[in-house]
Amino acid sequence: MRILVISDIHANYTALEAVLKDAGAVDETWCLGDLVGYGPDPNAVIEEVRDIANLTCLLGNHDVAVIGKIPFEAFNGDARRTLEYHEKVLTADNMNFLRSLPSNLKVREDASLVHGSPRDSVWEYILNTLSARLNFDHFTTPWCMVGHSHLQCMFRLDERTDRVTLEPVRAGDRVQLKPRLIMNPGSVGQPRDRDPRAAYAIYDSTEKIWEPRRAAYDIPEVQKRIREVGLPEKHAIRIAEGW
Ligand code: ZN
Repeated sequence: MRILVISDIHANYTALEAVLKDAGAVDETWCLGDLVGYGPDPNAVIEEVRDIANLTCLLGNHDVAVIGKIPFEAFNGDARRTLEYHEKVLTADNMNFLRSLPSNLKVREDASLVHGSPRDSVWEYILNTLSARLNFDHFTTPWCMVGHSHLQCMFRLDERTDRVTLEPVRAGDRVQLKPRLIMNPGSVGQPRDRDPRAAYAIYDSTEKIWEPRRAAYDIPEVQKRIREVGLPEKHAIRIAEGW
C-alpha cells in the first residue's frame, strides 16, 4: 500500500493542497493531528481532510484545545489568540468532526501512530535522542510515526547496543526501513526545520520504504490571509522562514 503521512497542517489550506497534489494517488492517508491552530483556514482544511478517502486522523494538542478539552491557557499568547479565533469561526459540522477523532495511539499496519509521543500521545515532543530512547519502550510495532515537533526527522534504535541515533534523512530520499524507528513526516502548514516548503512523507507499507518529501506552495498568499483576518504577524513571518 502507498500511504500518505501528514501532520500539523495548522489551518494552512494552500500548503495542504500542494501536498495532496504532489503526493499523487495513494491507498490510505494517515494524519497525525493539528488540523487547526496558527493559520487562517481552519474550516477549509477540515473540509478537505474530511473528504479524504481511507483516512486515519488523530487529534493534536491544538485540536484538543479548540474542542474544549484543554484550556487555552496551556498555549502561549500568539497561539492562544489564534485558537480563540478558530473556536469562533469553526462551523458546527467541522467542530463535530474534530470531536469524533481519537487522541490516543493507533496501530495501522506495522506502525504506531500518535501526535506527540507514544507515552504522551498529545503533548510530549520528541526532539532528541534521549526522549526518543525513552519512547521506544512505549510501543511494540517496528516503527512509530509522530508529529508535533514540526521537524522532518527519523530516530533509530539499535537493539543490540540499545543506542538511539538521529538518522540523516533528507527530502527525496527513499529510506529502506528496518526495526526499530520513530519517524516524523514534518509539518504541512508550519515547518520548523528552516525549509519553508510543506513537509510530508510517503510510506510504502509493502516494500517498507519511507520517503520524506517537500512541496513548494504560495506562501505570500497564506501570509495575506493571515493578515486579513488579523492573526498574529509572527505566524505570517515564520511560515516564510520555516521555523
Ligand atoms: Zn503542531
